[in-house]
Amino acid sequence: MSRRPLVAGNWKMNGTRAAAAELVTGILAGIDAVADVEVVVCPPFILIPEVAERLRGSGRIGWGGQNLDTHPAGAYTGEISGPMLRDFGCTYVIVGHSERRTLFGETDAVVAEKYAAAQSADLVPIVCVGETLEEREAGLTERVVERQLAAVLERNGVESLARAVIAYEPVWAIGTGRTASPGQAQEVHRFLRERIAARDPRAAAAVRILYGGSVKGSNARELFAQPDIDGGLIGGASLNAEEFLTICRAAVRARG
Ligand code: PEP
Repeated sequence: MSRRPLVAGNWKMNGTRAAAAELVTGILAGIDAVADVEVVVCPPFILIPEVAERLRGSGRIGWGGQNLDTHPAGAYTGEISGPMLRDFGCTYVIVGHSERRTLFGETDAVVAEKYAAAQSADLVPIVCVGETLEEREAGLTERVVERQLAAVLERNGVESLARAVIAYEPVWAIGTGRTASPGQAQEVHRFLRERIAARDPRAAAAVRILYGGSVKGSNARELFAQPDIDGGLIGGASLNAEEFLTICRAAVRARG
C-alpha cells in the first residue's frame, strides 16, 4: 500500500505575526517544487489567523493546532477547543506531544480523550508516542510506545486510525540534536505497525507513521527512505523556510 508522505512543522511557542508571515511566505514560494508530499504547519494558537489568511487559497499547505482541550466549549479558562480550531480552517492537531506529557502532566488517558475530541471536531489528530532516554536504556522502548498507542486505540477503536496520523518521537531526540539512526527509528515504526496489524492489518497498512526528533535537511532523506517512515514531525527545523523545504523535498526523493 502506498502512503502519501506527510511533513508537519511544529512551531512550538515561537514567532511573532511578522515572523510567521515571513515564514509561510518563504515556504509557499518553494512549495510548488514539492510534489506528492502533504505539508502542514502548526503555529501557536494566536498566530493561526495570520497563517490561515496567507495559506487559504494556496490549496497546497494545510495548518493545524499544537494542542486542544478535551471539551468542545464551556468554562475552561485559557483553553482552545477542536471546533474553534476547525473554525479557523485547521485540519490537523498534534496530541500527546512529549512536552505536553512531561511539562503539562498529560496522561495516556488525557491524550486518548484529546484524540477523540479532535476527531469529533473533524480534525485529524497527529498522536505522538515515544520513550525517554532512561526508558530506552532500560530496554523499555517497545513497552512504552505500545502502552501509549493502546490507550488511544482502546478509547477510540483501531478503525479511528483511518482519520489519524501517528508520530514516533523519542523524547531523547527532541530538540537535542540527537537523532535516532534510521535503523533505530525504523525498528520502532515497524513495531508500531505490527502492533496495529495485530488488531487490524488494513489499518496498519494504511496509517501514516511520522518520525520526529531533530530531523534536519541533512538527515531527512535517509530517515524517510525507511519502509515504515511516512514523513516527519519537525520542530526546530520547521522555523526556517529553506530548511523546512529541504526536508519536504527529501520526503519526495526518499519515495521517488
Ligand atoms: C517536535 O517538537 O515535535 C520535534 C521533533 O522537535 P525537534 O525537531 O526540534 O527535535
